[in-house]
Amino acid sequence: MMTITRREFSKLGALGLAAHLAPALNAQQPAKKIGYAVIGLGRIADHFMRGALLTTNSKTTALVSGHPDKAARIAAQYGVPSSSIYNYENFDEIVHNPAVDAVYVALPNSMHAEYTIRAAKAGKHVLCEKPMATNVADCEKMIAACKAANVKLMIAYRCHYEPTNLRAVNLIRSGALGQVQAIESSFGFNMGPNEWRTNKKLAGGGPLFDVGIYSLNACRYLTGEEPEKISAYASTIDHDARFAEVEENVSWTMRFPSGIGAPMDGCFRVHGSKGWLEVEHAFVYEGLHLRADYSGTHLDELNPAKDPSHFTAETAAFSSNIQDGTEPKASGEEGLRDMRYITEIYRSAGISI
Ligand code: NAD
Repeated sequence: MMTITRREFSKLGALGLAAHLAPALNAQQPAKKIGYAVIGLGRIADHFMRGALLTTNSKTTALVSGHPDKAARIAAQYGVPSSSIYNYENFDEIVHNPAVDAVYVALPNSMHAEYTIRAAKAGKHVLCEKPMATNVADCEKMIAACKAANVKLMIAYRCHYEPTNLRAVNLIRSGALGQVQAIESSFGFNMGPNEWRTNKKLAGGGPLFDVGIYSLNACRYLTGEEPEKISAYASTIDHDARFAEVEENVSWTMRFPSGIGAPMDGCFRVHGSKGWLEVEHAFVYEGLHLRADYSGTHLDELNPAKDPSHFTAETAAFSSNIQDGTEPKASGEEGLRDMRYITEIYRSAGISI
C-alpha cells in the first residue's frame, strides 16, 4: 500500500491565488496548432495525446521512445510521420523538425531535467510532468536552460486548469467560507510491484514525489499562501520488495503565515469561519465532487467531465501561452517551490533524498 496519510495544515488565510489559476482555454485560436513531441510513451503520455486531440490548438507531431514498435503503432494512431519518431540517442535532432514547437516530458522523474534541458537547447518549449525533477538544483537548471533558450516552461499541474479545483479556489477566494482555518488533504494508491516509482534513483523518493505533491500543491493554490513551518514523518508498514528503497507513507503538517488550525484519499477539505468546502476525488481524472456548506448555502456539485478533459485543458493552456507569448500559470518556478518543500518535508522526516 502506498499512501499519503494525514495532513494537518495550520492557520490558513489571506487567500489570493486568483490570477494564479486562470481559466485554461483560450478564446482566440490562431490557425497554426502547437505541435508536441511526446517523450516517453507510457501511461500518462496516452492521456496527454488523447487530451491534446480534443483541443483546437494542439497536436502530437513527434514521438520519442526507446521502443520502435510501440512508437510506430502510436505514430500511426496519431498521424505522426515515421520521420518524426526519435529515440533517446537521436532526440537532439528534433532541433531540425519545424513541426515540433514544444515537447511533453512524460518520463520517470529523474529524467525530467535532462530532457527539459535538451529540449530547451533545441529551441523547443517544454511541458514537463510533475514532479518537476528530483532535486532543487535540477529544477533551477531547468528554469535557467529554458530562460537562456527563450522557451516557455510549464509543469503539468493539471489541477490548476481543472474546473472543480478552480471552483473551490474561487469559493475560498470570494470569502464564502470565511477565514480559512485548516485544510486536510491526502492522496495515495496501491502500488504494484516492479514500478520505477519505488526505484529511488528514478523516482527521487517515495509517494510524496508521486502523489503527495498534489496535496502539497493544493494547499498552496487553495490558500495562496506559502508554508512557513513544516514537520513530517515517514513510515513503511508493508515490508516487502516494493519499499526496499523508498518509504511507503509520508505525513506532514504545514503551518501557514495566517494562523493555526487543526487537522483525509485524493481529496481536500477546507475549514473556514463560515463553513466548509470539500472536493472528493480532487486529483484524479474523473468524478470530482465538490460539497460545501457555508452561511446557509449547501453545494453538491458532481463534475461530469470525463478523462482526458484535464489534459485537454492543460495542453490548450500551454499552447495558448506559446501562441500569445504569455507565461504559464503552472510555471517552472511553481515546480521549484514544491521541490523546495518536498526537500524540507524529507529533511524533517529524517530521510535523505
Ligand atoms: P510509465 O512508467 O507509464 O511511463 C514512463 C515512460 O518512460 C515509459 O514509456 C518508459 O518506456 C519510459 N522510460 C524511458 N526510460 C525509462 C527508464 N529508465 N525507466 C523506466 N521508464 C523509462 O510512467 P507514467 O505513469 O506515465 O509517469 C511518467 C511521468 O508522469 C512521471 O513523472 C509521473 O510523475 C508523471 N505522472 C503524472 C500524472 C498526472 O496526472 N499529471 C499521472 C501519472 C504520472
